[in-house]
Amino acid sequence: MTTNMIALVTGANKGIGYATARQLGERGMTVLVGARDATRGRDAEGKLRGDGVDARFVSLDVTDEASCAAAAELVEREYGHLDVLVNNAGIVRADGSALPSETTVATLREVYETNVFGVVAVTNAFLPLLRNAPAARIVNVSSEVGSIAVMTDPQGALFALTSVPYPSSKTALNMTTAMYAKELRDTPIKVNAANPGYCATDFNHNSGFRTAEQGAEVSVHLATLPADGPSGQLWGFQMDAGG
Ligand code: NDP
Repeated sequence: MTTNMIALVTGANKGIGYATARQLGERGMTVLVGARDATRGRDAEGKLRGDGVDARFVSLDVTDEASCAAAAELVEREYGHLDVLVNNAGIVRADGSALPSETTVATLREVYETNVFGVVAVTNAFLPLLRNAPAARIVNVSSEVGSIAVMTDPQGALFALTSVPYPSSKTALNMTTAMYAKELRDTPIKVNAANPGYCATDFNHNSGFRTAEQGAEVSVHLATLPADGPSGQLWGFQMDAGG
């Protein structure tokens, strides 16, 4: 039985999630590498171990409640608690850039299944284990495109974006974050949303101007907040606390 802090990162087999897993591992945490595909998850586990991280693949498809329950049962059995949950898994769809009037409910539903419903499913499955930790941290990986203020500023760089599925899923995630923070405000648990900034990953065909490592630093900051740190905030790249 390890005495390390235990962190679970969803969608940790690549991109910002992988970098988050490595950085948490470098801080001495045992990192549970959540991945929906066993081959990709085990490959990531192997690479992280090669870098000296105490990493362990955990099968976790955030859109599958049975998968969430099985992962929580495993963590309960093996560790009895969870110190850090990073809800990082997220998707965007190619046809998700259609105009609102052309948006299909099917695409909207698919994006929300992962980016919103998946976060609720994973968080609720692991909340008993997070309550068992001395001072757990929950990080929901969001985006500045989820900010209504940013997206509706006529002078802002993102004003031209008109798609519905991905941005609105992150708006919903921000509100979801705030509501969990309110429910848990009398506990040591802190719940915050991270804005990693535009990072070069498969997500955007590597067009981002930041690295996945830089994006991960935002999640790691929120995952390691001190007792007097904030809760219920969207925080990160080019953003002040709040928003
Ligand atoms: P990637 O596409 O590189 O990685 C996404 C990860 O999520 C993959 O590991 C993927 O697994 C996993 N995933 C997707 N669906 C599921 C699922 N149902 N169950 C479990 N895992 C799943 O993206 P990024 O690293 O760039 O994005 C990570 C997060 O950061 C996302 O929430 C994204 O919205 C957010 N973000 C990214 C930005 C960027 O510029 N890159 C900017 C702002 C926010 P698989 O390999 O199996 O597909």
